[in-house]
Amino acid sequence: MHPIPSPIIRLRRLRQHPNLRALLTETRLSVQDLILPLFVKAAIQEKQAIAAMPGHFQLTLADLDKEITEIQSLGIPGVLLFGILAYKDASGSAALQANGIVQQAIAHIKKIAPDLLVITDLCCCEYTDHGHCGVLRQQQNHWLVDNDATLALLVEQAISHAKAGADVIAPSGMMDGIVAALRQGLDAAGFTHIPILSYAIKYASALYGPFREAAESAPQVGDRKGYQMNPANSREALREAQLDIQEGADILMVKPAGAYLDVIYRVKQAYPEIPLAAYQVSGEYSMIKAAGANGWINEQQVALESLLAIKRAGADFIFTYFAKDVAKWLIDGI
Ligand SMILES: [Zn+2]
Repeated sequence: MHPIPSPIIRLRRLRQHPNLRALLTETRLSVQDLILPLFVKAAIQEKQAIAAMPGHFQLTLADLDKEITEIQSLGIPGVLLFGILAYKDASGSAALQANGIVQQAIAHIKKIAPDLLVITDLCCCEYTDHGHCGVLRQQQNHWLVDNDATLALLVEQAISHAKAGADVIAPSGMMDGIVAALRQGLDAAGFTHIPILSYAIKYASALYGPFREAAESAPQVGDRKGYQMNPANSREALREAQLDIQEGADILMVKPAGAYLDVIYRVKQAYPEIPLAAYQVSGEYSMIKAAGANGWINEQQVALESLLAIKRAGADFIFTYFAKDVAKWLIDGI
């Protein structure tokens, strides 16, 4: 029998005392890292629960008063707005109206909470009757989203959001050239100070399922694989990031987050100087909620761990449906 050598270096030494563990914590999660997405719907009298996303609602403008007051009191720094309109058409024209639901919601929020950061999602899929992220065009026997025709619509929509008081514009439709088009359009309209947060790296993910109920944006024909990224690719993510940086994006985003931590890491390593956000999407939220409700996992611990992992991978901040829960958990000192 050979004696087993005793280890000289024992990493467990540093894990014994809770205060020492705390001192050596590399990544910390704070409510200040989180942005809460909100759904505001026109033409409803009272808020409607989103069945696939427990705890979330399609809100009326009147509901915003209470919601925004709570968000502010919890210390959440900002919200991401999605609008669901009273009517839809092929080009989503209602999204451009100065009195559209998003435009009204921005003004409403700014009245209640002038300092709360209001980021608006910029896309067409919540507003088009076909549910795609831009103008559809038939090519031979299939439909495709016309990239360049969509750009002009999105620029117009962005300017109307900026006029209504949006602080940040976040294009989510994965149209090529959108960041350059927006920068030019916003600047020409006098909004040189409005940052662009680009959903630069957005995958064609099945994890968006519950969101489509929330935003009523499921595509009626086909899918979004013709413009969103292939989940198999991460080198391509670097090209998307590089292009959007060249076009003038102020902040990049990776979406979804939890299943794409390697992508977050790669992008942050490649462009450490560029602010990076990540979006923990509806499916990520709903899976944790459902398993927690069944008693299969501890919802709170898994939610906090999932967000910590996203931050550890390299996200500077996170869009998450858990924002209010996290704020309450952290206030309770857990
Ligand atoms: Zn879209």
